[in-house]
Amino acid sequence: MNIKKVGVVGAGVMGIGVAQNLAQTDHQVILVDISENILDKAKHEIRNNIRFQGFFKKSVGEASQRHRQESPDRIIEKIEFSTNYKFLENVDFVVENTTEKWDIKREVYPLLDSICPADCVFAANTSAIPITRIASVTKRADKVVGIHFMNPVPMKPMVEMIRGYHTSETTIETAKQMLTQMGKECILVNDSPGFVSNRVLMLTINEAVFLLQDQVATAEDIDKIFKSCFGHKMGPLETADLIGLDTILFSIEVLHENFNDSKYRPSPLLKKMVDAGLYGRKSGQGFYVYQ
Ligand code: NAD
Repeated sequence: MNIKKVGVVGAGVMGIGVAQNLAQTDHQVILVDISENILDKAKHEIRNNIRFQGFFKKSVGEASQRHRQESPDRIIEKIEFSTNYKFLENVDFVVENTTEKWDIKREVYPLLDSICPADCVFAANTSAIPITRIASVTKRADKVVGIHFMNPVPMKPMVEMIRGYHTSETTIETAKQMLTQMGKECILVNDSPGFVSNRVLMLTINEAVFLLQDQVATAEDIDKIFKSCFGHKMGPLETADLIGLDTILFSIEVLHENFNDSKYRPSPLLKKMVDAGLYGRKSGQGFYVYQ
């Protein structure tokens, strides 16, 4: 089965990356969010990102290299921006990227279930919420899979794929095909809150925020230790700014709630920064200031 028409739900940091990557690999995309303002901003950001990422040669794999020469306008033409879920009634595949809040996702999935074709696979791009839990609010648990994309999506060739309790082999194969079409590969893991990546990463970032809160070192020096001593490309606080501090907080709260283990309690400084609207790159300020 060749997947042609893809629904992308949520037009934030991840949704716009997924939509762009799909359009650049010649898919027809329906991008859904809750307001026209958010969708206008998404269109603007996709246009900027295409220009910026055009400078990088090795990004989204062979399939999209063919389309790299296309103008931002040609790529954006392949994306339909809408606040109306009804447009998802004949999509082949859905990638869900709404806010990392169970209260939001548990409303979104039954809606998708009632609108999308019965054989449509739902890929949850969540940071930490268990895929089995997401599947439980649909009538197609076998067709729900986790695809944890990396940020920025068009630049990252590898994803973490998560098999929920009821996810079928056919669904895994369909999701793998979707990724191949997007120029990506995956590492398949079993379902657990935070999966492999974020069970470690969110704890690391949260602990780095505690270090800053305890004035053990500055943000710059905390990050420098990871980059200069461990050879990481980015430090934990820079990574937090890239992901979004709100998403970090929601994810660590999901881990805290699911494992019921105090090691996942969020740092008060992280909570304060989110309350202050310091979300990182997307708001212009987090641990660092962005122009
Ligand atoms: P974000 O806050 O930037 O965007 C979330 C978007 O979802 C917003 O535009 C919001 O308006 C929209 N939304 C909320 N309710 C909705 C609804 N009912 N219908 C449609 N849209 C709705 O968040 P993000 O960083 O893009 O994260 C999205 C998902 O991807 C989360 O589950 C997150 O954990 C996961 N994720 C994030 C990253 C990252 O680096 N930011 C990486 C991998 C996975």
